[in-house]
This record gives sequence, structure tokens and C-alpha cells, in this order.
Amino acid sequence: MAGDIQLTCSDCGQDFTFTSADQAFFQERGYSTPKRCKPCRMAKKNDQGGGGGGGYRSAPAQGTPVICSGCGQPTTVPFEPRGDRPVFCRGVRFFLRSTGRRSFPYHPQA
Ligand SMILES: [Zn+2]
Ligand SMILES: [Zn+2]
Repeated sequence: MAGDIQLTCSDCGQDFTFTSADQAFFQERGYSTPKRCKPCRMAKKNDQGGGGGGGYRSAPAQGTPVICSGCGQPTTVPFEPRGDRPVFCRGVRFFLRSTGRRSFPYHPQA
């Protein structure tokens, strides 16, 4: 039987212990391995006002799937892209905005 597992919380970045008792509990309920530590999960729960709607608040907003013209990665944009304009992912848009450039000099390293 597996013992305690050390996991890293995706919210606060802290390591936390997924105890064997918790593992059994999660397994029983059919839950997958938690991504967040207990305090963060509790905060999340409180944050949702106890409605229990399920679903993550961090789920991406509805958008149009596109391929980023800057880095070539699939991404979504919250608008209908026009054929004559390049579409950039959030990271590239931020880069362009913060540098004032109009294109993204991205060269993947071999
Ligand atoms: Zn956390
Ligand atoms: Zn991109």
C-alpha cells in the first residue's frame, strides 16, 4: 500500500502531504489526485460561496481556438479572429504590448 505522497500545490506552490488516509478517501469518492493543498482547497470552496456548482473558476473563458502567429502554439482568443490579422496567444500579446513590437521574434531552440 502506498504511503503518504508529497505533492506541490498548483495555487500557492507549497508542498503538501497527500496522506494515505486522504488517498483512500479520494479513491473511494472517485476523485483524482488533488492539485491543491488543503488550505487552498478550503479557500476555493469558500470563494465559491458554497453553491457547489462544481467546475473550476480558473476554467478558460469561452474563446475561439486558433494557432498563435507568434509561437505556433494552439490557444484561444476571446474574439472572432479576422483572416488578415495575425492572432497571438496571451503570452505573446503581453510581450508585444510591453515591448511595443509588432511581431514576435520567437525562435525555438533546438
Ligand atoms: Zn496551496
Ligand atoms: Zn503564442
